[in-house]
Amino acid sequence: MIIANWKMNGSKEEVSSWIKSVTEEVDFDNEKPCVFCPPSCYLDYSCSLIKETSSPIFLGSQNINYKKSSALTGGIDSKMLKEFLTKYVLIGHSEQRETFKETNEILHSKLLAAINEDILPIFCIGEPSEVKQKDNTEYFLGSQLEALYDVDLNGVIIAYEPIWAIGSGLNATKDYIEKIHSFVKEYCRSNLNSDVKISVVYGGSVNLSNCEEIMSSFEVDGLLVGGASLDPDIFSKIYNLS
Ligand code: PEP
Repeated sequence: MIIANWKMNGSKEEVSSWIKSVTEEVDFDNEKPCVFCPPSCYLDYSCSLIKETSSPIFLGSQNINYKKSSALTGGIDSKMLKEFLTKYVLIGHSEQRETFKETNEILHSKLLAAINEDILPIFCIGEPSEVKQKDNTEYFLGSQLEALYDVDLNGVIIAYEPIWAIGSGLNATKDYIEKIHSFVKEYCRSNLNSDVKISVVYGGSVNLSNCEEIMSSFEVDGLLVGGASLDPDIFSKIYNLS
């Protein structure tokens, strides 16, 4: 799967031209879902455009709250997301973890809220550079993966996004990604007792020149693309090459 994470970027006009261009330029493959995660305020509009044009693009939300219909200013719940045919949701992105101080307990509740409404979580994990330098990455990621304890992993996607690679132009090498993805898959098998085949996608400075190399690894099941997804031509090329 190839996921476009727009973060807090774009406008209504840009959403419209992105959906139009990507729908025209991408050689859609059912085995490789094309997922668009715009800012929440554009989900409704994106959903209408996707329906109108019968586009094979799937919608993903950048956020979800775990309570339903509650007094939470700025909140958006799973039932609301479902109204816009949201199929995926990013949970645990490092920017959200840091800004909103999301703990494993909160993330666990978000995972359950999504799954209960049949929305597939894209659960993001990743280590900061200090942790990598001290060679503590696996221990660090293991503690993040504990949020998945007792979660039905069927359909859950894990996005490995080293924090030092996000938006920095420094993507992780194919060997490093392979090592970490294989650790994540093994962790799910042994520590979460999951016999589900879990998909692990990579994110962190993916662009047109590194996407093919990263995707050529048998451990990489897809890409989560931030900055490079804003331009529909570049994103479509990344999809088609991957
Ligand atoms: C992201 O934050 O999800 C991401 C992968 O960003 P970028 O591609 O810009 O590094």
